[in-house]
Amino acid sequence: MNIGVLALQGAYDAHQKKIESLGVNCILVKTEAALAKVDALILPGGESTTMTYLLQKHQLWQPLIKRMQEIPVLATCAGVILLQKMGVLDIDVIRNGYGRQLESGIFPLSVKFDTTEEEVEAFFIRAPIINAVNDKEIDIMSYHLDKPVLIRKNKILAATFHPELCQSSPIHKYFIDLIRH
Ligand code: GLN
Repeated sequence: MNIGVLALQGAYDAHQKKIESLGVNCILVKTEAALAKVDALILPGGESTTMTYLLQKHQLWQPLIKRMQEIPVLATCAGVILLQKMGVLDIDVIRNGYGRQLESGIFPLSVKFDTTEEEVEAFFIRAPIINAVNDKEIDIMSYHLDKPVLIRKNKILAATFHPELCQSSPIHKYFIDLIRH
């Protein structure tokens, strides 16, 4: 199994290390050819405006939308903004929604996995706020300050925080299980 990490800009390196530490092969995705080789994809955090610009510049915007209809996706932080902009998830987001005071906060979250509820350490870095979830098929797995911060629609998982910075790997492990089942 190959998990791809979109590697045009942002925190792709930390995701790669996480995936490899869990014994799964990782491919850094910068081209359409690489996109075709992966069985699942991670959209990392970074700057959604820069990523949008680079995806369009490299003619990857449409191919990425198409591929994300076929394979599991984990989007983190700016990646969640991309999912909204690409029409992959019907949600409303506010960029940098928590304002400056939450630029680098670490907060414990209570996360509902399928059969368990676990505490997860979440790093929020100029995170977007998910202000509305407009699709009944989207499950909300965790809230922070009354807003959804981890959501899932089938095999699309979206976190407004940075699970790749956490010492343990609950979100990545859950994603790998999603891919396998
Ligand atoms: N503030 C960034 C944006 O709007 C997201 C921050 C992040 O990914 N850590 O794109």
